Amino acid sequence: MIPFLDLKAPHVELREEINAAIARVVDSGWYILGPEVEAFEAEYAAYCEAHHCIGLANGLDALHLALRAMDVGPGDEVIVPSNTYIATWLAVSQCGATPVPVEPDERTYNIDASLIEAAITPRTKVILPVHLYGQPADMDPILAIARKHGLRVLEDGAQAHGARYKGQRIGAHGDAVTWSFYPGKNLGALGDGGAVTTNDPELADRIRVLRNYGSRVKYVNEVQGYNSRLDPLQAAVLRVKLAHLDAWNARRADVAAAYLQGLGGSGLVMPHVPEWAVPVWHLFVVRHPQRDELQQRLQEAGVHTLIHYPIPPHRQVAYSDGGFAPEAFPIASGIADEVLSLPIGPNLAMDDVARVIRAVRAAA
Ligand SMILES: *Cc1c(COP(=O)(O)O)cnc(C)c1O
Repeated sequence: MIPFLDLKAPHVELREEINAAIARVVDSGWYILGPEVEAFEAEYAAYCEAHHCIGLANGLDALHLALRAMDVGPGDEVIVPSNTYIATWLAVSQCGATPVPVEPDERTYNIDASLIEAAITPRTKVILPVHLYGQPADMDPILAIARKHGLRVLEDGAQAHGARYKGQRIGAHGDAVTWSFYPGKNLGALGDGGAVTTNDPELADRIRVLRNYGSRVKYVNEVQGYNSRLDPLQAAVLRVKLAHLDAWNARRADVAAAYLQGLGGSGLVMPHVPEWAVPVWHLFVVRHPQRDELQQRLQEAGVHTLIHYPIPPHRQVAYSDGGFAPEAFPIASGIADEVLSLPIGPNLAMDDVARVIRAVRAAA
């Protein structure tokens, strides 16, 4: 069986370095924030070409705290993609604000910037694009709309560590970018982790205070904050893995290039990469009208695939009180019905990629 993603392999590859990093934390006696978290924050900010990085407990908290730091609250609206992982919406709801979905571009699966202005109301505060599947969203038109209407831009970068938009790394095109280090992400911890990167010193300062009980000085609380701190053990592991991220992303790109070449003309809709984008192939998503049958045949042929995502947020029971008609957001619904994610990862052997290509061509 060819697995969708081998989570263990990159850690086995780096076992000694990772064990040494963990031992360093154990021996330091410092187990909350501290030098290991600060070192990772500095290294990840530099990697993302951003001035500041704040390490947090997970990617959902990163979205939530960044929105709080932008003063998003009850009565406010945040523009989100209709096609995303539900975390993007949940963070808005956690602030007491309302997610306002905008449909994606059919070719890139990312938010369609030409539809954003029609969704803006006097209550809109933030535009929240997602760099879905590791493909950068088209930031320039989004930033122009935000400037015109006086809105903030928060980017969900949870799937896009290392991606570039017009030459610049995802990390500070908008006001801030949120990150997840969930184990399956391109940069993943040995547990949960998250971060925000930004060039705005005031936003960075607010998020730093919010993550630590609203406190800058111990037992002095300026705001009603949260406990959402990146664990120093995870920071130490992430520092080891960050040094390998570009090489791992390059291996993903090799797999993607082989799929793009080998699956042309197979009847599948293939990923589209605009000329201004350097994606990092968190997922390799194809589209087929008989997706479920295709997935079943691939399973029988020994190829494990996944669906990202089978139910769009507006059709989840969790958002049944959102007032969305079943036929609302047909583009997101159509994507959910037809997409299939093929195996991809830094440790997928090219022989296995060739096997996947043969299996898909036979099954499609
Ligand atoms: C993974 C992910 C998140 C949430 O990250 P967690 O660390 O699991 O909380 C948010 N948005 C997107 C697009 C993601 O893929």
